[in-house]
Amino acid sequence: MMKIMSKDRTDLKGMTLPELEILLSRWGKERYRARQISRWIYQQFAGDFAAMTDLSKGFRGELSRECRISSPPVEKVETSADGTEKYLFRLEDGETVEGVLIPEEDRRTLCISSQVGCALRCGFCATGAAGFRRNMSSAEIVHQVCIAVKRLAKRGERLTNVVFMGMGEPLENPAEVSRAIEILLSQSGFGLSGKRVTVSTAGVSKAMLELAERFPVSFAVSINAPRDELRSRLMPINRRYPLGELVAAMKKIPLRSGRKVTAEYVLLAGINDFESDARDLALLLKGARVKVNLIPFNAHEYGDFISPSPETADRFREVLLAAGIQTITRERRGADIRAACGQLRGAAEAKTP
Ligand code: SF4
Repeated sequence: MMKIMSKDRTDLKGMTLPELEILLSRWGKERYRARQISRWIYQQFAGDFAAMTDLSKGFRGELSRECRISSPPVEKVETSADGTEKYLFRLEDGETVEGVLIPEEDRRTLCISSQVGCALRCGFCATGAAGFRRNMSSAEIVHQVCIAVKRLAKRGERLTNVVFMGMGEPLENPAEVSRAIEILLSQSGFGLSGKRVTVSTAGVSKAMLELAERFPVSFAVSINAPRDELRSRLMPINRRYPLGELVAAMKKIPLRSGRKVTAEYVLLAGINDFESDARDLALLLKGARVKVNLIPFNAHEYGDFISPSPETADRFREVLLAAGIQTITRERRGADIRAACGQLRGAAEAKTP
């Protein structure tokens, strides 16, 4: 059983239902108690055991002595003119990560982080530029969701989607990300359906397939270049998992009918946004059940890249559509609060001597 952080008390946040059941069975408690506690943590947002009124007083006391429910406060919330909320979470060891809540008509999507920093150093990414600090625990990962669900509940809204698209590469932290996904999908956790949980990866093919075998979640793969030579320059991970292997893995992901893997493509002016790139991309993705998300680069302080013109983005999209590939250009959200990954943290750290 994993003990998380300080004070020798076991953190129950971040434990999956089977893990909670094992813990409680050691104390001779019934299995259903695990489900009760899980609901208190993820559905009632209990921060301590005193609130768990359907447990006996004695049991609550026992739990308080042995266990805790980590709940670090949110350090900062910024709200964009378009309603996007950006959170800066301060973790118990002082590190910071970011989350972004994106409201759309019928959706409330939370983008969460899975690592403090990132080791993959994609050339266009603020998080990659800042380097890797450590993996996040499942408790820290799901805590981001607790905060968003709680804030939404206060205004009578519900979280509908979670995307692992914040800081870090989720598949470089597969054990803790898997535990977090189990909690997201569990009926006594957040009760989300697999299609509403998306794991975004820079292309860690092997771990992607392993996760796809375990959970019916959705996948978004950052492609960003149609040829190995260019992709290796933009995304060094391509040397480990080249495009051929990556696309082959995407084709192997078990998909329920009608579902597709998302191929993400950040358009960088003069680098990967030529019509010939669009044609090469269409060829590369031939035969794969994919939809393409085009993301015009959001110019920021860490990169020398520039945003493509709307006309260039439109032309790129038209080439893909003509090849029969479902393609959308993603609307930029929260640009005024620097909602691209790693930018709020970057700003906070710049202020920290
Ligand atoms: S884009 Fe994602 S995988 Fe690449 S450096 Fe940034 S956080 Fe890491």
